[in-house]
Amino acid sequence: MCLFCKIAAGEIPSKKAYEDESVYAFYDIAPQAPVHVLVIPKTHIESAQALTREDDALLGHMFEVARTLASENGLDKTGYRLITNVGADAGQSVPHLHLHLIGGKTLKWDN
Ligand code: 5GP
Ligand code: ZN
Repeated sequence: MCLFCKIAAGEIPSKKAYEDESVYAFYDIAPQAPVHVLVIPKTHIESAQALTREDDALLGHMFEVARTLASENGLDKTGYRLITNVGADAGQSVPHLHLHLIGGKTLKWDN
């Protein structure tokens, strides 16, 4: 099992933000902003590049969870960023699909 599969299964501890049958969300261990939550599917999907139409409902649900967590953290008023890195050039370090929900400050855009 990959790192995020183990986190979703509770085999590696994490600070949970949300959980249901298909999605798990937890606070990033190295936050880039005051709010930094990772939203992951419980099933192993390597990245956005590995998604198929079969995952449409799951992906829609991941976004639903992300916007609910954004609202709970007050970010719906101030704005936030949803990021998913794919592969080496993007710096994807864990090969399990994840949405970064980042906010709570004015964010810069480096690239
Ligand atoms: P990526 O670089 O793949 O887009 O994002 C991976 C993220 O996972 C990074 O922001 C990193 O800080 C976070 N991360 C890596 N290992 C762990 C861990 O064991 N626990 C938690 N909570 N976050 C982790
Ligand atoms: Zn995995």
